[in-house]
Amino acid sequence: MTNSALQKTDPEIYNLIQSEEARQEKDLELIPSENVVSDAVREAVGSVLMNKYSEGQPYKRYYPGNQFIDQIESLTESRALQAFGLADTEWHVNVQPPTGAIANFATYTAVMNPGDRMLGMNLYDGGHLSHGWKLPDTGKPISFTSRLYDTHFYTVNKETRVFDYGEVLARAKAVQPKILISGGTAYPREIDHKKMREIADTVGALYMADIAHEAGLVAGGANSSPFPYAHLVTMTTRKTLRGPVGAMIFASKKLLGDDIADKIDFAVFPGLQGGPQNHSIAGIGVALHEAMQPEFKRYAAQCVKNAQALADELMKLGFDVVSGGTDKHLVLVDLRSRGWTGKDAQNALEKVEIIANKNTVPLESGKPWNPSGLRLGSPFLTTRGYKENDFLEVARKIAEILAKN
Ligand SMILES: *Cc1c(COP(=O)(O)O)cnc(C)c1O
Repeated sequence: MTNSALQKTDPEIYNLIQSEEARQEKDLELIPSENVVSDAVREAVGSVLMNKYSEGQPYKRYYPGNQFIDQIESLTESRALQAFGLADTEWHVNVQPPTGAIANFATYTAVMNPGDRMLGMNLYDGGHLSHGWKLPDTGKPISFTSRLYDTHFYTVNKETRVFDYGEVLARAKAVQPKILISGGTAYPREIDHKKMREIADTVGALYMADIAHEAGLVAGGANSSPFPYAHLVTMTTRKTLRGPVGAMIFASKKLLGDDIADKIDFAVFPGLQGGPQNHSIAGIGVALHEAMQPEFKRYAAQCVKNAQALADELMKLGFDVVSGGTDKHLVLVDLRSRGWTGKDAQNALEKVEIIANKNTVPLESGKPWNPSGLRLGSPFLTTRGYKENDFLEVARKIAEILAKN
């Protein structure tokens, strides 16, 4: 960056950004929720679109001067539908939520009343905080979702460490939730969306699939789509979908009625936020355009192959890989048999510029700030061009650092 306005105005921030850029080039980034966006996406996100206020929906704004913003947002909406095979269907999409957690909360407020019951994945078994996590020992609510709603959780089978749909059904029957949620941050296996929908139907619940992590794998055809089954689908745009920070909510008008579109839109604005981040929405549009190119299909498939190579090699090297592998872009390792805690492993790896995060594992015996597992992912390095052989190398380096204690 020569003649950089930022460098002139604020060399302090400029230099820190340069350092971070160099760090991203050099480190082995294995955090599965991270990726590297294209220059095109960055250009859109850094554009003049952030100068405009556009409260409302495309072609229904509170302020004038939105003729181009309207076109950008509605183009992003139609690309979102197209990227997931939903063009000309009765799916509604809202692309305004700034993050996944807010998209989820908006969705709950659109379809539930305070006090209603929700059933989602146990956090320690790979679920997400935004599904209403409460501390298991004290019941202390952790998020606004768990303060506002009566939240419950299903767990993995203790032997297989994967979800057993019979147990999910039993739990759903006991809880009688208004909404059944799937999706998580550390669950390495594909979710059977058809079965989840059947369970939801059995107890009269709505089925919401949160595919924040897998969005790019679904768009790229490497993981199965929840859309044939779910009532509601939410996702972040920055993970495997390789877009900017942002999120989208999809709702089936066929299953929920035409008025769900207004309910979702109203929950987002004015329910939870003011003006949308037009620059991010444009960046999401660009990322979706990229996700519809043949190259992205290869990317999604490669993410899975790379994660599988990593998992296989780690198992050969004696690691306990939860569920014995992965169907996705992420691998979860239980370190207890290796004599390491998650925190110590994370720190030891960071010293040699391998960036992977500590994580809870099924049947967790540690604490959230020092859990027993390590989470690894392929999206970032796959974008950088890494193939299976490179990931075998990564596995060997990890094994070297985390030698049996
Ligand atoms: C990452 C994630 C979210 C939250 O996304 P943010 O943009 O960080 O708020 C929600 N649900 C799941 C399953 C996630 O993995």
